[in-house]
Amino acid sequence: MDRKLLLIILDGVPWRNFRRLFGNLEGWVDTGEARVWKKRAVLPSISASCYASIHTGVTPQEHGCTGNGNVFRLSQKDIFSQVREAGGVTGAVAHSFWSQFFNRHPFDYVRDVEYDEPNSKTINHGRFHTMTGYGKANQMTPCDVDLFATLTNLCLRHGLDYGLLHTSTLDSMGHRFFHECEEMDHACFVMDEMLAPFIPRWRQLGYDVIVTADHGQDDRGHHGGRGALQQETALYYFGDVEGPDANAVIDQLQLAPTILDRLGAPIAETMKGQPFLK
Ligand SMILES: [Zn+2]
Repeated sequence: MDRKLLLIILDGVPWRNFRRLFGNLEGWVDTGEARVWKKRAVLPSISASCYASIHTGVTPQEHGCTGNGNVFRLSQKDIFSQVREAGGVTGAVAHSFWSQFFNRHPFDYVRDVEYDEPNSKTINHGRFHTMTGYGKANQMTPCDVDLFATLTNLCLRHGLDYGLLHTSTLDSMGHRFFHECEEMDHACFVMDEMLAPFIPRWRQLGYDVIVTADHGQDDRGHHGGRGALQQETALYYFGDVEGPDANAVIDQLQLAPTILDRLGAPIAETMKGQPFLK
């Protein structure tokens, strides 16, 4: 592997919340440590379909995941499989959908909650949670600092070349409280503060870091359809190479080939998006 990279996906954060409420990320944009672009989600702009598209680089119309009720082992190649192809070590700290899409389905609570599989063709080191019972009154999300720490632990113990972290806290908060409220301001503020100390640490370990969301949310906390609030989020990049102009809009399908290109892993033939980092 040429380089190492961590992809941090904060579920359901619209462009406006990233830019208005994430003071640490925005501070690093001001000082030049980070670059930020607008990123547009695929349609449907629903979580599972977006996870599948982020990692395979193909549309939901092609991979076939039409929503959160239709999760299965995808047939397309993805970031994990391509990093493994190049001999890299992969890890994931994420919702169980990620294990189902890219490793095996159905999800077995005991077998799949935590695994270390050095010979896996996709995910070598997985730490998953299911959010079973999730609803407005009980979010069933782990604490985000625990997730960030777990990813760091995997990096240190297993020398990950590529690590994915996904957390649904802010998506759940948006569905519960919507967006023009104290609760949402505070939730974004806390996420930013919890994440911030890890970024310099990951950079010191030699990782490029990308922070983004799978999709946005509108004023009623909804997403799934078309429109700026539902589809548009931010993408922050911490690393040494150049990207497009500040006003460029990144297509979600560009993420997989960009990450593979950056790592020096083979881009699958099915991934048609152009890498946006040079
Ligand atoms: Zn989502």
